[in-house]
Amino acid sequence: MPHPLNADLHCHSTVSDGTLSPEALAERAKVRGVELWALTDHDEIGGQERAAAAAHALALPYLTGVEISVSFAGKTVHIVGLGFDPRNDMLRHGLEQTRGGRGQRAREMADQLARAGIVGAYEGALKYVGNPELISRTHFARYLVEAGVCADTNEVFRRFLTEGKPGFVPHRWASLHDAVQWIVGAGGMAVIAHPARYGFTPNEEYALFLEFKGHGGQGVEVVTGSHTAAEAQTYAAMAREFGLLASRGSDFHSPTESRLDLGALDPLPEGLTPVWEALADRVLH
Ligand code: AMP
Ligand code: MN
Ligand code: MN
Ligand code: MN
Repeated sequence: MPHPLNADLHCHSTVSDGTLSPEALAERAKVRGVELWALTDHDEIGGQERAAAAAHALALPYLTGVEISVSFAGKTVHIVGLGFDPRNDMLRHGLEQTRGGRGQRAREMADQLARAGIVGAYEGALKYVGNPELISRTHFARYLVEAGVCADTNEVFRRFLTEGKPGFVPHRWASLHDAVQWIVGAGGMAVIAHPARYGFTPNEEYALFLEFKGHGGQGVEVVTGSHTAAEAQTYAAMAREFGLLASRGSDFHSPTESRLDLGALDPLPEGLTPVWEALADRVLH
């Protein structure tokens, strides 16, 4: 049997809501045995040059990456892009637009938290922000832990910042069509991130997969830090049903917060074609 490649094609740096720099992540990926790596910051490709240079210095094969926030059927869906040209103008402009509403949203989140008795959350979250254009719920979660409101960030997302809880501000992200277009138009491959996380009904999920394919999307994350082993089997079956390529990524954010470390993923289930087979000519060596 051929050696299954230890690919890890999903993680975050200080350029979005991770706690490690692109360079520290490259180093960690290498040490943990990753053989093909991609940094996929939220709505932002400002870390791509640094990640690619650090990977090159470590002889770690690299694919460009991003994770785009999309609004679909009243929920937020994440679309990962891999192997695109980071200089592409449409992609850069689209991501800039998508990032645009985050500052105002953060102020509204802080106002809601203040009404729930938690003051100073905006300033508190800002202390954790590495990129002023990318203030996210994760930064608020870290501040709420620091302030002693919750014991860890998982508890924050159970009690705050999610639908129906204090600090949740609905937001209009990119459309599925636009996100896939930006990625594909820049020569990359679009991949549905962690599908088990969305809580869609079977009909909504079917619509997501069908529309995604219709727009030119080609892959789905099957093995991720957000999926159980059973969920990996469920989405392996979906990949086969929809003729999608399969991806694998830890979604690593931080040594203390993430369930799974870089490279510590199960192999893809049998009978799937990995995304990296179709991306071989986009890999940077
Ligand atoms: P935002 O893009 O500002 O809406 O923030 C989304 C980020 O919050 C995700 O990428 C995760 O890093 C984090 N997040 C969302 N939900 C949870 C959760 N239930 N547990 C832990 N982290 C979460
Ligand atoms: Mn995140
Ligand atoms: Mn995500
Ligand atoms: Mn992610």
